[in-house]
Amino acid sequence: AKAQGKGRLAVFDEERNARQVARYRLAGSMPEALRHGQFFVHYQPIVEFSERRAVCAEALVRWRHPELGVLGPGHFIGLAEDSGLIVELGRWVLEEACRQAVAWAHAAPDGHTPLVSVNLAARQCQDDRLPGQVERILAETGLPPDRLQLELTESAVMDDHGKPLRVLWELSSMGVRLSIDDFGTGYSNLSYLRSLPVNGLKLDRSFVHGLGAAGLATDPVELRIVAALVQLGRALGLTVTAEGVETELQARRLEELGCDLGQGYLFGPPSAPGPTGPVQL
Ligand code: C2E
Ligand code: CA
Ligand code: CA
Ligand code: CA
Repeated sequence: AKAQGKGRLAVFDEERNARQVARYRLAGSMPEALRHGQFFVHYQPIVEFSERRAVCAEALVRWRHPELGVLGPGHFIGLAEDSGLIVELGRWVLEEACRQAVAWAHAAPDGHTPLVSVNLAARQCQDDRLPGQVERILAETGLPPDRLQLELTESAVMDDHGKPLRVLWELSSMGVRLSIDDFGTGYSNLSYLRSLPVNGLKLDRSFVHGLGAAGLATDPVELRIVAALVQLGRALGLTVTAEGVETELQARRLEELGCDLGQGYLFGPPSAPGPTGPVQL
């Protein structure tokens, strides 16, 4: 039995090794994948509850891998953060999203430019060159600064002493909108929020789940938690967006609670940019 146990351990080690090797290989092939145009961006509509009108689109990156097929960001964003490639990849996504928003504006009958929202990794926020990069991309694409929203997580925008990073003020003074992503999942205290130059909060989908995911009723405790988070956001004058809205019940609850915007499969999955985009204005 003992020998057998050892054998099993060896198999586990081998599996773990194989996984590591696969990860290294994937990470190693990313720079070339970026050069060869294997990354692409899908856009998911963000909808106003009252009118059910898309007012924004979130850019979500994917990788068309020659052997593995299409990979979601869960497979490679972490690797890119570890290797540092996220700075280059993130800049590419930003540029691509800004170009796309300008293309939608040209296609719109009234020339109105939709808001486009782009995720930033912690590594990008900690890079002093970020504001300059954003400024240059806006100038080159011609996207007005207030048509760009950047989504940053709570942990990414604080320094080691729990103080907000300076880049936040630089970005916000350029007129770019800032939104706290995955709000509620971090463990920072809430008092910092008051001092941050942000325009919005995105409630993580784990909170939205309890409001009545498919086949489930609304959980009264979860409802009170989301109510408190929405009220907090509104008290601070922030636009509150709920992620992961999948059912009409969730949408109704969120609208009742005064949540401004929603995003999720109910309104539309992330998809390739059409000529006028997921944003119908
Ligand atoms: P996120 O910022 O929380 O983005 C929302 C994720 O939820 C997306 O997953 C989206 O496809 C998924 N989603 C949307 N609606 C629903 C719904 O109704 N139900 C459920 N269950 N899921 C829904 P995706 O595209 O796989 O992206 C995962 C994460 O990868 C994102 O989470 C974001 O943190 C990160 N990510 C994506 N693109 C980028 C990027 O360009 N840069 C960086 N740094 N991170 C990115
Ligand atoms: Ca509304
Ligand atoms: Ca996001
Ligand atoms: Ca989330």
